[in-house]
Amino acid sequence: MASVTIRSVKKNFGDVAVLHGVDIDIHDGSFTVLVGPSGCGKSTLLRMIAGLEEINGGDILIGERRVNDLPPKDRDIAMVFQNYALYPHMTVRNNMAFALTLAKTAKATIEAKVQRAAEILALAPLLERYPRQLSGGQRQRVAMGRAIVRDPQVFLFDEPLSNLDAKLRVAMRSEIKELHQRLKTTSIYVTHDQIEAMTMGDKIVVMRDGRIEQTGSPLDLYDHPANQFVAGFIGSPA
Ligand code: ADP
Ligand code: MG
Repeated sequence: MASVTIRSVKKNFGDVAVLHGVDIDIHDGSFTVLVGPSGCGKSTLLRMIAGLEEINGGDILIGERRVNDLPPKDRDIAMVFQNYALYPHMTVRNNMAFALTLAKTAKATIEAKVQRAAEILALAPLLERYPRQLSGGQRQRVAMGRAIVRDPQVFLFDEPLSNLDAKLRVAMRSEIKELHQRLKTTSIYVTHDQIEAMTMGDKIVVMRDGRIEQTGSPLDLYDHPANQFVAGFIGSPA
């Protein structure tokens, strides 16, 4: 586990500034939700933490380490996306093992890590199945399994539930939170859904147009919204 520190982080695409100097302190072992309307810069910020986008100003630290110029593979993070394409021609076991195989991890270690992740995610009976033989929720769990086997310091989630139907989405929120309570891995979770944010976040960061409007616990935001935007956003249905 590790803390993540975002200091005055800026991003522009060409002439267009999309992050205007963002500061966030993410505590070791916490579950932090970044929430805001579509286009406000959530994915861009997450991709910068992952090392998939260049930083145009400021610093990102994972633990004590400044990672601005580190390639993604050296950052000790694992990301779960909305479009978590599984490899259709590989079994559940091989989907989960793939990143470790690429990293030339010892076979016995891979087996043990896949087994542990499968047990945590209730996938043990499904290890020899192919993705097409799984339900939507089971596929989502395999995507999380691929992240867990890497034992990262930080999990990054980018709207991982957006493609699921409403009922499954609610169930998976609890599963992800239970997973966090079990593993205690520092987690940064992006969503545009304020109900998801309020039910899942220990700490919520409300973003708008590349800036942070407010940071606080769900209760802080509910009881003391910093401005009209936060009050309206938190109070409105998804
Ligand atoms: P969110 O995840 O909050 O919906 P994004 O981080 O995806 O928002 O996008 C923030 C802004 O940056 C949007 O205006 C988007 O159009 C723009 N943007 C994102 N990626 C690129 C890119 N590769 N090139 C140009 N503009 C981009
Ligand atoms: Mg996004």
